Amino acid sequence: MKSLVRENDKLPWSSAPGRLHIVTFGCQMNEYDSQRMAQMLMASYCLTPYMDQADLIIVNTCSIREKAEHKLYSLLGRLKRFKCSNPVLKIGVAGCVAQQLGAKLFQRAPQVDFVVGPQGIYRLPMLMERLQGGNDRLHDTGLQGDFQIPYIDALLPRKGDVRAFVTIMQGCDNYCTYCIVPLVRGREISRPVEDILREIGSLVEQGVKDVTLLGQNVNSYGKNLSKCVDFPSLLLEIDRAFPGIRLRFTTSHPKDISDRLIGCFGSLSTLCEHLHLPVQSGSDRILKRMKRRYSRAQYLEKVKKLRNVCPDITITTDLIVGFPGETEEDFRQTMSLLEEVRFDQAFAFKYSERPGTAAVRFQEKVPEEVKSRRLTRLLKLQNQIGLEQYGRLQGSVCKVLIESCSGPKVTGRTRGNHVVNMEGREGLVGRLVNVYIERACHHSLIGTIIH
Ligand code: SF4
Repeated sequence: MKSLVRENDKLPWSSAPGRLHIVTFGCQMNEYDSQRMAQMLMASYCLTPYMDQADLIIVNTCSIREKAEHKLYSLLGRLKRFKCSNPVLKIGVAGCVAQQLGAKLFQRAPQVDFVVGPQGIYRLPMLMERLQGGNDRLHDTGLQGDFQIPYIDALLPRKGDVRAFVTIMQGCDNYCTYCIVPLVRGREISRPVEDILREIGSLVEQGVKDVTLLGQNVNSYGKNLSKCVDFPSLLLEIDRAFPGIRLRFTTSHPKDISDRLIGCFGSLSTLCEHLHLPVQSGSDRILKRMKRRYSRAQYLEKVKKLRNVCPDITITTDLIVGFPGETEEDFRQTMSLLEEVRFDQAFAFKYSERPGTAAVRFQEKVPEEVKSRRLTRLLKLQNQIGLEQYGRLQGSVCKVLIESCSGPKVTGRTRGNHVVNMEGREGLVGRLVNVYIERACHHSLIGTIIH
């Protein structure tokens, strides 16, 4: 759970009379959507880091895992008391849980004034007008196949941000059997190239140097656009237009990683040496049940090609343990895949059933205690591999872009997406420095700036 702005943040736009606080659960796409909501409401509201001082609180939700829903209800319970101290306070729920539950949310949480889904957030100013006009309990959870993501000028929520995210598409057409995303975010919709270039241009003007393109499956970018463009062509256009930036993207579906896209890692100077490539399982039987549409061998082949083109590439992944029907042998294959690929980092979760997905109907559920034991074994192995992978940088010198400063310490990032902590001062934020890597920790590095 994150607040869009924090205490001591320098806020670039703050003259509007109302005070808005946005809480974000879940992924980077949700963070991006939270920023867009703040921008759409900026004529009437300025951002506040303090929930208890807000006139409008929006909770932007995620429904990938069941736990996120529980967290939402627990937060909404805490927000109830703010309504007693501030009678003008409005509370809204946005995002995937809002889409999934719609008007049903009002029954369980009557303190909620409005509910908007991932497409509905773009109609938020109109909804707010209706709310101010005396209407209450409003919901907008329509999902239209021909929806176009409107262009909204990119403004950073905090002055001095070095990194920014740009959504290039939303929705997904893949329907993996465990995943709720296509049900709550709808079909794939790509943004026009011109809008994406304009948005990156605006971020670069504000000082951004590291841009991550976002989408549920960025590799299938362009499918619904009239202009003939695919993801590698988009990367090429961005690389040409903004040669000074660091460019990244997430998330990639392994089945859609083409040789042209792999080639981009060897030919585009802006494209950073990091790829997040969710494998989910190392067992062909489970991959088939998940409807992932690639085999273990095909996944390994793509990793091999990537490392041929770009030997230093950092590869990270997502894994699910305890998917229905996963046997000890299937799990063993996932463990052996970890050893074979040697991921730099893996985000592993116990399978959690999501309503409306195909896997809900699958038999052979794996008991919770088995899932927990497998997850512990998997994390133990991955922690060891990750530490060894990070350890390979020990004793080397990396170019690090400094992103933030806290006291006498600064934090930055390598092109390979390793977070590096070192001593430094505020003035270094936004600067590219050479750092001698002294030590590897789990998921980060410790270094010293070389002058
Ligand atoms: S590709 Fe990703 S977002 Fe789409 S259904 Fe599969 S897991 Fe969900």
